[in-house]
Amino acid sequence: MSITTGTTTGTTPAEVERAEARTAHNYHPLPVVLAHGEGAWLTDVDGRRFLDLLAGYSALNFGHSHPRLIGAAHAQLDKLTLTSRAFIHDAFADFCAALGDLCGKELVLPMNTGAEAVETAIKVSRKWGYEVKGVPADRARIIVASGNFHGRTTTIVGFSDDPDARDGFGPFAPGFDTVPYGDLAAIEAAITPDTVAVLVEPIQGEGGVVIPPEGYLRGIRELCSRENVLFAADEIQAGLGRTGRTFACDHEGVVPDLYILGKALGGGIVPVSAVVGNRDVLGVLKPGQHGSTFGGNPLACAVGHEVVDMLATGEFQTRATDLGVVLRERLDALVGHGVVAVRSRGLWAGVDIDPSLGTGRQVCERLMARGVLAKDTHGSTIRLAPPLVISDEDLHWGIDQLAAVLG
Ligand SMILES: *Cc1c(COP(=O)(O)O)cnc(C)c1O
Repeated sequence: MSITTGTTTGTTPAEVERAEARTAHNYHPLPVVLAHGEGAWLTDVDGRRFLDLLAGYSALNFGHSHPRLIGAAHAQLDKLTLTSRAFIHDAFADFCAALGDLCGKELVLPMNTGAEAVETAIKVSRKWGYEVKGVPADRARIIVASGNFHGRTTTIVGFSDDPDARDGFGPFAPGFDTVPYGDLAAIEAAITPDTVAVLVEPIQGEGGVVIPPEGYLRGIRELCSRENVLFAADEIQAGLGRTGRTFACDHEGVVPDLYILGKALGGGIVPVSAVVGNRDVLGVLKPGQHGSTFGGNPLACAVGHEVVDMLATGEFQTRATDLGVVLRERLDALVGHGVVAVRSRGLWAGVDIDPSLGTGRQVCERLMARGVLAKDTHGSTIRLAPPLVISDEDLHWGIDQLAAVLG
């Protein structure tokens, strides 16, 4: 395998300019225009190769063009792609059953994007609150955590504390109480008779791979059970193998009432998200009360089902665990050499760069110049989330490049 090092400066500026000319600038991408992907590697329009250490924010846990996923998509493309939920199609039942089994839950509600799944969990939690818990009409409250990222809809950004995500988009929906992430006592203190759910990420991805103190998730589970409140775990980025377990909640042996899934569920091919729970919760929805034109479409179900089958073997979780040890060892060795702190679980790390070496963005630009694509989160934190199919050798090479740009 030929790897270009030290010479790559990104895609031809004219190509980058063309790509940016007619788009709203709600992103600030690295100046690289990609044309092909396989496994952990991407190739740009000029034929330069890059190691992907972002994996579509974990949407590409199985890498680019995984043959099983591409095969499932191709087979379904030739048969049936969309019916709407007005009718039933023949890929639906098996996908829902397989995903339900993976989660150990009775029912699956498929949507498309992560934000839609979070919105769905909010709606289900409120309806459960009114119809099952007996909260008075329009009084339902949901506890969320500071530093959260749950998506970009107006309701969701309304309970974000990131000014970029929030400012200028109000007025916002009421009904959310924010408490510090990782603080169990704060959740306990915030619960009132009107509280219907605690909505948290088991690990905060966009926040910089922030791992809560041991016992936090178990504590939320106990509190929620005791206080008759739903535990809704946003596993959109943390779930589906990334941390070395199927779900990040598994690390504390915790089962939430609602799993909120997305990203990798679509195999890097189509947007597939879902809310998964038991009948006593998801059963509150009756025909006409919630829906999605594309949710649970045949192509999504075919790809999602293949993803579930791949995860059911445990092979990718094991790989994330094993490579996670390598990643952690290599990153720990950089602490004091340009790295201030490392947080990781499985093949997922937040790396705080010494701010005197530049912003996270600048470090990512230098990585790109060495043939590695990664993404900063806040300020000087870089999130590393390689595809779980990355080879040991390529992972080492990627970290070598990080060490070089920090050295
Ligand atoms: C990405 C993400 C979302 C939103 O998913 P979209 O598909 O971009 O709408 C929600 N929650 C978490 C934890 C995420 O990482």
